[in-house]
Amino acid sequence: MLVMSDSYQQLLEATIRHLEERKARGVKFIPVSQETLAALVSPCVRESEAVAAAPSRSPARPLPEIPMFESTVAPPPPASAASSAPASPGAAPLDLQTKQAAMAELQARAMVCRKCPHLAASRKNVVFGVGDVDSPLMFVGEAPGADEDEQGEPFVGKAGQLLTKIIQTMGFTRHTVYIANILKCRPDTPGQSVGNRKPTSEEMKTCLPYLLAQIDLIQPRVIVALGATAVEGLLGKTAGITRLRGQWQEFHAVPVMPTYHPAYLLRNVALSEKRKVWEDMLQVLERLGRTISEKQRNYFLNA
Ligand code: URA
Repeated sequence: MLVMSDSYQQLLEATIRHLEERKARGVKFIPVSQETLAALVSPCVRESEAVAAAPSRSPARPLPEIPMFESTVAPPPPASAASSAPASPGAAPLDLQTKQAAMAELQARAMVCRKCPHLAASRKNVVFGVGDVDSPLMFVGEAPGADEDEQGEPFVGKAGQLLTKIIQTMGFTRHTVYIANILKCRPDTPGQSVGNRKPTSEEMKTCLPYLLAQIDLIQPRVIVALGATAVEGLLGKTAGITRLRGQWQEFHAVPVMPTYHPAYLLRNVALSEKRKVWEDMLQVLERLGRTISEKQRNYFLNA
């Protein structure tokens, strides 16, 4: 007998309600990106099931497919547009309840993901993301470090504390933005007792569908990409963060502002570098239509 989890049942009901509302409004097709679809239907093993199945070595039952509202039959994109098509161009706004339920289900999948077996073996926690699933503003970093792996939350170490200050100076809090990373697991460092390593492109590609699904659900108005690796993971650009920072980019129809990683600001304490990041954040605030005080405008001037 198939037993559905409460959150799955809630998601299913919310999805059906949402689809019925849209159908009643005459919507016939809902676009869904290939990456999102692939990520959401690829099998992931529930840890409890894997443990239960272990003695007999019988194959673990995959999670049921998530019936994302987007996965109703959509006309395939033209071949030429397939890779650059927005995830959900002009998609109807999702209500908070739908977002929360779908995010919880996505998180449940990520928590037991073993797509990178070496990372699954070395991690203490999957670092999924935190904040407001309805926020207009999303920050994307590279990957969890040791502190994040320990606590299961992104940007809680020294660089994270600086990011928190930047967010507060912008007039937000960690609870009113959404923070996530390209990689949900800490890159392993075999034979190394300290330090982090950059995620490989293979690891980034494997994990990106989770971030893509998070973006599709949150529908942020702006994404801030923190550092060269986040820019590379999101946009595939390796032009160098010094050249790209401060220049608007786009990821699946969402404006992206690349800026320096807070860890860089910890290493390079010059006021001029802080001002550059701050100027990038002023652009973000302007794009969000936020009122900017004189005090905010003048931070880190005289650099
Ligand atoms: N650096 C990142 O890019 N992400 C974190 O979560 C922490 C440090």
